[in-house]
Amino acid sequence: MIDTHTHIFPDKIAPKIVENMRADSGNQIPLSGDFTLKDLKTYMARCGVEAVFTFCVAERPKAVPPANDFLISITDHQTIFGFGTILPDLADPVAEVRRIRERGLRGIKFHSLFQPIGAGDENLTSIYEEMDRGGMIAYFHVGKDPSHPSLTARTGPEDIARLRERFPTLKIVAAHFGGLFMLEEARKWVIGKDIYIDTCWGPHIQSLEAKEVIDLIRSHGPEKVLFATDYPSTLDPGPQIEWWKVLPLKKEEKDLVFRENARRLLGL
Ligand SMILES: [Zn+2]
Repeated sequence: MIDTHTHIFPDKIAPKIVENMRADSGNQIPLSGDFTLKDLKTYMARCGVEAVFTFCVAERPKAVPPANDFLISITDHQTIFGFGTILPDLADPVAEVRRIRERGLRGIKFHSLFQPIGAGDENLTSIYEEMDRGGMIAYFHVGKDPSHPSLTARTGPEDIARLRERFPTLKIVAAHFGGLFMLEEARKWVIGKDIYIDTCWGPHIQSLEAKEVIDLIRSHGPEKVLFATDYPSTLDPGPQIEWWKVLPLKKEEKDLVFRENARRLLGL
């Protein structure tokens, strides 16, 4: 199986991130690993995950090029697919998008919880245009901030629907079934549309009813759903994967969600 939503940081920074997340989230976002490459590979081996998409999100413009260099350095095009990071107030963001594509990154993660951006921001337009031209994947956190669920989502399901209208051919992935803790809106704006969604949910997938997960997958179309965990920002993925394995989906549906859709999206 392929996990299309994981997080990673360079070894030097990872302990600091763990510390900050524990402090900032008031433990609302669980951690089941330490954000290092070694730990990610241990998770993959332990849980039978053959490949991952992994994100290293920069919160400030200065951090964008080194984060992308790190992602480029760990991407092996077989088991680890790094997704780049970008910010519109970088001196030349379009050049950075081009640079990372030429160095082999297939997409970019836009993270409205850790970056001061929303999917609908006008100043992202030239970035989207460049990504669209190069066939890159625009992967979005969509929905609430689990640490601050009362705040309005900076990227909500409706923003993703509007983005699809503005960019009909851009490869878009909306994380968290199209809207973390906003499933009603996700069903209205994302489910059934020509947009990929992923399956990570907080604090773990078992907090949704099996019936609801099956209905979301079938209503959306299993050919546009990507298995994902958000590792390590999730409870232990082991029991979650066991939950998925016994979920009463058809074998063809599971093959698509667990592996084939991710491979198609990557162009493999
Ligand atoms: Zn995530």
